[in-house]
Amino acid sequence: DTIWNGVEMGPPDAILGIAQNFRASTDERKVNVCVGAYRDETGQPWVLPSVRAAEGKMIENNENKEYLPIDGDAAFVEKALKFAYGADAPLERIAGVQTLSGTGACRIGGKFLAEFFSGNKIYLPVPTWGNHHKIFGECGLDVQTYRYYDRSTNRLDLDGMLADIKDAPDGSIILLHACAHNPTGCDPNSSQWRALMDLIKEKGHLIFFDSAYQGFASGDAEADAQALRNVMKEGLPMLLAQSFAKNFGLYGERCGTLSVVCKDAETKDILMSQLKNIIRPMYSSPPKHGSSIVKTVLSDDALTGQYYKECTQMADRIQSMRTRLVEAIKEAGSTHDWSHVTEQIGMFAYTGMSAEMCDQLTDEYAIYLTRDGRISIAGLNDNNLKYVAEAVHAVTD
Ligand code: PMP
Repeated sequence: DTIWNGVEMGPPDAILGIAQNFRASTDERKVNVCVGAYRDETGQPWVLPSVRAAEGKMIENNENKEYLPIDGDAAFVEKALKFAYGADAPLERIAGVQTLSGTGACRIGGKFLAEFFSGNKIYLPVPTWGNHHKIFGECGLDVQTYRYYDRSTNRLDLDGMLADIKDAPDGSIILLHACAHNPTGCDPNSSQWRALMDLIKEKGHLIFFDSAYQGFASGDAEADAQALRNVMKEGLPMLLAQSFAKNFGLYGERCGTLSVVCKDAETKDILMSQLKNIIRPMYSSPPKHGSSIVKTVLSDDALTGQYYKECTQMADRIQSMRTRLVEAIKEAGSTHDWSHVTEQIGMFAYTGMSAEMCDQLTDEYAIYLTRDGRISIAGLNDNNLKYVAEAVHAVTD
């Protein structure tokens, strides 16, 4: 068999490759603070009780395993869009399809823009979720970047951001994280959002919102959606990629939506037909289980109330670990300024550690993290917090 002899080994994925190394490690001290998945206070994955209850109802109702339509479960999409855009959202003019989580939403949205939007350049923040570059490149868009985070101050680089968005050709696509920017945990404040919206409007850009952490950031899903709702109310052209991986803990169920806010219902119908034409030859129709869960939870007032509490519980545990991480690093003897970590929100601590420091954490302490200095706070708990804090101090001292 020689037909594949010319094929060379491809590079491992930056994040999933580290997770693989973690699993392979036999070091008893090993800690996984790499992948962005929630862990409870014992370090275990957590299936939300409201999600379990919804699954119970689905079995009780003897739900079948028929195909969903190409654009997914319409009742799920409606609930999902209200969750994002608000209960009073003008759904009659929002074209929305169910997608394979946030990744699939970015992919469908990117393909749609490559085919139907006048501008071909998409601007991504530096840094951003690494997969963004590959996804939008695969879609045939011309991937560009804008300054977002200043590693020398560990804060948002608003001036750089505004300058780069201004320099982009009019009518470009600007990707913005809706909340809890990954990996920096640093979002614009409301006056910075105002400045961004004014400039984007002036330039005729289109906003592509990536919302992977709604509710997970502050614990309040309504608060976390404020930026994107303001943009919609302002009437700026926008797409939204929505993921239920983190906030519902449905990582492996691959559940999300992609939506385009249109000027009227007629445009919505036309765009729906084109979105379906993109999806059909790609995977025909989305999976059913995750969207049935979200629909079931959000269709039942009691379950919805329970869900909101559980989402807050996850956000609160992360928030408290964030504070305690900084305290523990200081207790270990660090005199550095870690206030940026305290100010960040969401799942990650963007520590400012160099790639060499990260390598040292992995090689000498079996602490697995991405080489940009990002620590997934969800991976911390009472058993490993002190160990990680002391190691961070040791490599940054
Ligand atoms: N966007 C961002 C910013 C993310 O952090 C993630 C998850 N790491 C995603 C999109 C997509 O994740 P998923 O496909 O699991 O919804």
